[in-house]
Amino acid sequence: MKEKYISTRGGEKNISASQGIIKGIAKDGGLFVPSFIHDLSLDIASFKDARYGDLAFAVFEKFLNDFTPDQIRACIDSAYYSGKFSGDEPVAVSKVDDRYFLELYHGPTCAFKDMALTILPYLMTTAMKNIDIDKDIVILTATSGDTGKAALEGFAKVDRINIVVYYPKDGVSTIQEKQMLTQEGENTCVIGVAGNFDDTQNGVKQILNDNSLIQTLNEAGYVFSSANSINIGRLLPQVVYYFYSYCALVRENEISMGDPINFVVPTGNFGNILAGYYANLLGLPVHRFICASNSNKILTDFFANGAYDRNRDFYKTISPSMDILISSNLERLLYDLSGGDADAVAQLMSDLNEKGRYTLPESLAQSENYQKFYGGCADETATKAAIRQMFLDNHYLMDTHTAVASSVYDAYKAETGDTTPTIILSTASPYKFGHNVYESIFGEIPENLDDYAVLEALSEKTDTEIPLPLKNLNQKKNLHDVQCTPENMSDCIKTFLKI
Ligand SMILES: *Cc1c(COP(=O)(O)O)cnc(C)c1O
Repeated sequence: MKEKYISTRGGEKNISASQGIIKGIAKDGGLFVPSFIHDLSLDIASFKDARYGDLAFAVFEKFLNDFTPDQIRACIDSAYYSGKFSGDEPVAVSKVDDRYFLELYHGPTCAFKDMALTILPYLMTTAMKNIDIDKDIVILTATSGDTGKAALEGFAKVDRINIVVYYPKDGVSTIQEKQMLTQEGENTCVIGVAGNFDDTQNGVKQILNDNSLIQTLNEAGYVFSSANSINIGRLLPQVVYYFYSYCALVRENEISMGDPINFVVPTGNFGNILAGYYANLLGLPVHRFICASNSNKILTDFFANGAYDRNRDFYKTISPSMDILISSNLERLLYDLSGGDADAVAQLMSDLNEKGRYTLPESLAQSENYQKFYGGCADETATKAAIRQMFLDNHYLMDTHTAVASSVYDAYKAETGDTTPTIILSTASPYKFGHNVYESIFGEIPENLDDYAVLEALSEKTDTEIPLPLKNLNQKKNLHDVQCTPENMSDCIKTFLKI
């Protein structure tokens, strides 16, 4: 049992890291967690001057315990040191005024999902070898915009894996659509669905439960898998940059080794911030985790009163990647807070499923690790004001998601007076949401500017560069033109795989 992964709901035990990565989710609906996490520690002092890749190696070695050291190194080099990221190191830390921004958006699609989705394909192909899977994998993804492109970019041209991305034809931005339609790689397939995101996502769920299709695929030598954010292969890569950014502050003499710091995380599915929590369990000195939400402030309420209640209105905001009412990865925190009590977690999740809400037992609500989290939220007005003020005061551009975090940090500081050094996780390039960033700073967008011209205008007016992956996007050729209705989504897979 030791060194194995287990389901948060108790239904699966004895799962190797490789199996966990291929399976994605446990049979009982639970999430895989490392049963051995409390036995792990990382001697951070010895990594003060380390490259990102060396820290990544140290972290992965602890969690991916059926991978060889050579396999781990190869995955890291392919993902982070083969020209996919714009800098020498995949992430950067910028000091701005009284805070630090950990910029996680210098990858191929200009958003933080790249940190995990550039390496997941390599972890998957390695895991396939380790557990002798003889079939090729077909990754299915439904996207409301960002994840689709990051997954396409990550899996493109990777051996033995195909990727099919469905998006709601009229439900993504012009730029997001263009990013996907121009995707290269024979193993990629991008399909516009005549419906909204829910139709698209339901269609994918149906495909994954379609036994006759699964059978047909099997006979042709394929199995389905997914790349969503509950896969441990997406969670683990996110642990690394918490350590790395801490060491960056030590190197710059901003803090001394051992000093606790705060992290502010713009949160949706709770994956990013949970990775920080895992880093803390491994010994990273953290004072508070500040969990920042937009108007969908279900987590703010949860950390205020211990009640998670999704019976509420849903808002579409300018930080769409955080428009979420079910933060799946929170289940892993509940599991840890309860001391690994799978029955208790299963009960809470069944409450959530049946009543749309659950309340944390008093003993857990009092625990030190739960109290370490602070929840805060920023509405649309506060988010835009934060973007504008940050630019006027410091000439620094924040995207809408990062701005939610920065605004929540302002409120946190005012409320608590806490002056602990604080890192804000910056999750997207301002150009990825250039339209909203432009409006926040300069007001209404002139009518003659299309979505691409807005980026040019933002660049000129702020004297900052459009990142390469978003530059000249409108001159790139579309390579995909498949469309379908929610009813015939599965036919497209067969056409694509020629079966
Ligand atoms: C996905 C995403 C988030 C939310 O991250 P979680 O891990 O789901 O909490 C925040 N910002 C951006 C830009 C994202 O793409």
